[in-house]
Amino acid sequence: MTKPFQPPSRILMGPGPSDVHHRVLSAMARPTIGHLDPQFIVMMDQVKAMLQQAFFTDNALTLPVSGPGSAGMEACFVNLVEPGDTVVVCVNGVFGGRMKENVERCGATAVVVEDDWGKPVDLEKAEAALKAHPGAKALAFVHAETSTGVESDARSLCELAREHGALSIVDAVTSLGGIPVLVDHWGADAVYSGSQKCLSCTPGLSPVTFSDRAVEVLKTRKTKVQSWFLDFSLLTAYWGGGAKRAYHHTAPINALYGLHESLVMLHEEGIEHAWTRHSMMHQALLAGLEVMGLGLLVEPSARLPQLNAVLVPDGVDEAAVRARLLAEHGLEIGAGLGALAGKVWRIGLMGQSATPHHVTTCLSALEAALIAQGMTLAPGAAAAAANRLLLV
Ligand SMILES: *Cc1c(COP(=O)(O)O)cnc(C)c1O
Repeated sequence: MTKPFQPPSRILMGPGPSDVHHRVLSAMARPTIGHLDPQFIVMMDQVKAMLQQAFFTDNALTLPVSGPGSAGMEACFVNLVEPGDTVVVCVNGVFGGRMKENVERCGATAVVVEDDWGKPVDLEKAEAALKAHPGAKALAFVHAETSTGVESDARSLCELAREHGALSIVDAVTSLGGIPVLVDHWGADAVYSGSQKCLSCTPGLSPVTFSDRAVEVLKTRKTKVQSWFLDFSLLTAYWGGGAKRAYHHTAPINALYGLHESLVMLHEEGIEHAWTRHSMMHQALLAGLEVMGLGLLVEPSARLPQLNAVLVPDGVDEAAVRARLLAEHGLEIGAGLGALAGKVWRIGLMGQSATPHHVTTCLSALEAALIAQGMTLAPGAAAAAANRLLLV
């Protein structure tokens, strides 16, 4: 208790956090300076500019909220939704359910469009809900459902919202950095992400961006934003740009050094290359899973490369497999959530955890654990199948 905590060495291949590069960790160990120091303000402006690039947006209101992805989610809802509003919420997994909870806590009515876990949001059902509720303030959905490994069609959903005079509120926590998040191209209005998924930074920061349309809605609210801490009309006085900054709260200085470094690394690689890398590692993982006779929950057209929900074979103790991976290999993968508990493993290939080394290590470890569970598998075959793809 009174000794320093030394974390064990781990390979993080769950639903987040992903492995954090030593460059990011070293950046976070640099000296703390004042959050109104002119040099710190220069760094903040760079973070903002790099986030605009990553989100493919010119939105002036683009900033990292001081808090995890859940804080970014809450920020979008509390700033845009007022008591008495109606919001159409698409729910096809855990995080859509949390959006509904946010809407209701804002004193608004959530009209839920439900889809099966493992399926993308159904566009026709979303459209029908918008038609049935013509005054709806917003359409909210999760772009990359981390609980199931499903990608929904963000571009079409944002278009639908716009056609019906509603704002779009998009969860891009798991998508940013792993697959395209094209905010301006989609015409998305409020988009939030997280630092610890495909950006491979430490947890605790949530990049958020608001379109001019969303800013206008914020400016013309009838009521004050329920949350003082997350009120963007106050926060933008701090993050608003230029040298004139007003104190709002003390920014998490060193955490922002980390985010800055992870964005520099993304910039060095090129975000398009990062997308390709995620896709290639996903294909390699799939090749190895197939050799072991393991299938994915999600149909090929809606699969996220960065989150693979693998069906647990009959007769296999899924918790024992995860425990063995952690104990024997220091490898963390995720369990199923909610309706999928006990039915799937969630293998993350996010950011720094999307490398050939991660793919082959995971396949070999999983193969050994399944053999220990009594499955008949040829040792080494899974990683070999992945390597065949990785070599070309
Ligand atoms: C991880 C995640 C969140 C929540 O992020 P935290 O940093 O854990 O608060 C929200 N939405 C999705 C889709 C996520 O994957």
